[in-house]
Amino acid sequence: SEIISEVHRNKHLIYQADLEQAIRTILHNEVSKQNEIGGEPLVALQRFLTVLERYNPLGTNGRQMVSKLREFVVQFNQKLSGQQFEQELRRLVSKLGQIYSTTNYVGCTGSSPHLRGFTCSLWTLFHYLSVQSAGNEEAQDPLEVLQAMHGYVRNFFGCTDCSNHFQEMAARRKIWSVASKDEAVLWLWAAHNEVNQRLAGDATEDPQFPKIQFPSANSCAQCRRATANASKDSLELNWNKDAVLSFLKNIHNPQFISRYGVP
Ligand code: FAD
Repeated sequence: SEIISEVHRNKHLIYQADLEQAIRTILHNEVSKQNEIGGEPLVALQRFLTVLERYNPLGTNGRQMVSKLREFVVQFNQKLSGQQFEQELRRLVSKLGQIYSTTNYVGCTGSSPHLRGFTCSLWTLFHYLSVQSAGNEEAQDPLEVLQAMHGYVRNFFGCTDCSNHFQEMAARRKIWSVASKDEAVLWLWAAHNEVNQRLAGDATEDPQFPKIQFPSANSCAQCRRATANASKDSLELNWNKDAVLSFLKNIHNPQFISRYGVP
């Protein structure tokens, strides 16, 4: 389709549409469908909304909505139901007016309907948030985004296999030892590449979007160091992490987010 050709022409672009679709699905589907949100899930939701409020890619209305939603959720210190959450969300949406500028994925469009979509946009959103945190001099906690993501994935992500894999990987890769915000950006990048490696050739892979070790040599030649024995697609690739970090900061710079597909 036209969208897929656009995405293939611009492989390194991050799209506003995907960031918005991730937020919409998280709030309106994954959180709203919970029966009860208390204890650890409630803390996880509060942390997620705090980070989202801080680095919110939505427009004016959407930023207000997330602030009000966070204020609403932090009032609860025991539990709230998904239904209460959804009611408040709907109330805010009808009060504030248009929140989302599109109902389609762009960079996360799959070549068939069951491929890509939400999971792709979830990665995109968290990479985006990690880079915004790294660029924010006031942010003191290097773990703010990784902790929000871990809590979200553990307590709300509807893909149970994904959630379990991610938690196992997070423990093995010592997520809680990440010591700086730049390191957090790179932690998420390396973790995502491990998942790409595991899923390469899997039935869930979109043939139009093969899993690669990201970024490709074409997108970022400086990101890879030439070595005699680095095989093309192995985790042993000899990365130039400074170049990878600059690349990630650059593509997630709000100034360069593409508004393709957004009226
Ligand atoms: P995705 O892997 O979703 O990536 C989205 C976009 O991010 C890519 O198009 C690319 O532009 C960019 N990108 C790719 N790699 C990187 C990187 N290293 N750093 C920065 N940006 C990058 N599926 C399973 O079948 N089993 C699982 O166990 C599983 N676990 C998951 C765990 C988590 C936390 C998440 C969010 C998803 C998981 N998934 C899992 C889904 C899977 O990772 C993909 O999201 C899905 O297969 C769609 O792939 P995709 O081609 O759209 O690219």
